[in-house]
Amino acid sequence: MRARGRSRHGRRKLSAATDPRTEAAASSQTAAPPQPDHDCPLCPRLVDFREVWRAKEPDWHNAPVRTFMPLGGPDAVQLLIVGLAPGVRGANRTGRPFTGDYAGDLLYATLAKYGFANDRFAARPDDGLELHRTAVMNAVRCVPPENKPLPVEINTCRQFLTPTLTGLRNLRVVVTLGRIAHDSTLRALGVKLKDAPFRHDGRHDVAGLRIASSYHCSRYNTNTGVLTTEMFERVFAGVAEYLD
Ligand code: SF4
Repeated sequence: MRARGRSRHGRRKLSAATDPRTEAAASSQTAAPPQPDHDCPLCPRLVDFREVWRAKEPDWHNAPVRTFMPLGGPDAVQLLIVGLAPGVRGANRTGRPFTGDYAGDLLYATLAKYGFANDRFAARPDDGLELHRTAVMNAVRCVPPENKPLPVEINTCRQFLTPTLTGLRNLRVVVTLGRIAHDSTLRALGVKLKDAPFRHDGRHDVAGLRIASSYHCSRYNTNTGVLTTEMFERVFAGVAEYLD
């Protein structure tokens, strides 16, 4: 595993004084990234929506969705996948990112194909799926109405994205799924959007990380042909080549 700052791939080095990731690398153990409380109150509109679903479906998760971590914990993470937000019948129902709706079928099949997960995904949190050197999270932790978080909600929930990005000391690649996840990741890293603009299969080396961007693997994007399986796999083939 290559230590941060010694990449052959031209990643820009930040000074110790300006790079919070250096602090994590200096400590002997990485703490787990902070997670929102089960009843996080910070986005009133999303709290109201959550309460509606708690009343309708009391057996569902209906709470902020935690980051799905690999075997080995934070120090094992070299690849972080950042999606948009939980789907109402997906992660909002099951409590695990990309679990329970179509987006997870394509994501986890692709991760398994390139060695970033085992091949046990069955759309249930108890299916035996394990991630390898990969973590999966959303830029917004609570389900938004119509899958559309407001800018203020994206900005507010960044307080959980930022320490995840800066605290994983062996992190080397972030795959951003869709423009909202991409732009929020750049903002979390203090990178100007114009320095790493979103496009499908984009690759930018900024803030000591490779940012690989992709159209979101939603059913809408695949049904409309915006994203094909081949296009999505190409992104992860590039990531696997970069990491190996
Ligand atoms: S979206 Fe994030 S910040 Fe907003 S209520 Fe949910 S967990 Fe809290």
